[in-house]
Amino acid sequence: MSTRQPVVFLGHGNPMNTISRNRFTEAWAALGRSLPRPKAILAVSAHWYTRGSAVTINTAPETIHDFGGFPQALYDVQYPAPGDPGLARRVHALLAPVETDLSEAWGLDHGTWSVLRHAYPDAEVPVVQLSIDGTRPAAYHYELGRRLAALREEGVLILGSGNIVHNFRAYVPGQDVGPYPWAAAFDERVRESVQSGDHAPLIGYEKLGRDAALAVPTPDHYLPLLYVLGAGLPDEAVTFPVDGFEGGSMSMLAVQLG
Ligand code: ZN
Repeated sequence: MSTRQPVVFLGHGNPMNTISRNRFTEAWAALGRSLPRPKAILAVSAHWYTRGSAVTINTAPETIHDFGGFPQALYDVQYPAPGDPGLARRVHALLAPVETDLSEAWGLDHGTWSVLRHAYPDAEVPVVQLSIDGTRPAAYHYELGRRLAALREEGVLILGSGNIVHNFRAYVPGQDVGPYPWAAAFDERVRESVQSGDHAPLIGYEKLGRDAALAVPTPDHYLPLLYVLGAGLPDEAVTFPVDGFEGGSMSMLAVQLG
């Protein structure tokens, strides 16, 4: 029997999802119950965006509250999952010759814990974060995902956390607002390419015109998807365990391969 883990991208949306209950958070919880329990999680979060690559090597990563202006209840959240220095070293080795800094300067940011708190509420699965090198082009991130695919055979769940459509300037608070036409169109475009396994246009998303420019005004929330797609295998099952929008301009679409 194969122990291969799937790879998953989650749209995390508003940090308040951490302490809310809605159809997104319920879908994350259901996903956590349905996936084979991983030995560890390697998370690529939109919120650890660096010059050069880094991976957390802490044994007890701190819960980082990397936002401002939210209710105290959100700052009170702790996600005390252990780290996994062995996995951090394994990531370092798999990504070579890319030089990945083994870092104790970061812990778990809300891109990671806002979703894991629902998917794995016991916080017992060790979690390591890999940063996104913001100086590199999209194809580079896809390639790093490809190199990390071997982890799937080792019981590691690779988790990308961002948002496929993430336009903060157009965001309208409240979940009952329907998506902007450009947001819906780009979301659908991504879904079709993921479904068909045609990743080239997604790596070259900057050439997809006005919808893409509005949906991905900065690459931070989009690039975690490319790690997940890069770690995918040919002809494996593609599912979308969560969909919908927050505030008209934030896609909550989740992608699962395998
Ligand atoms: Zn975010």
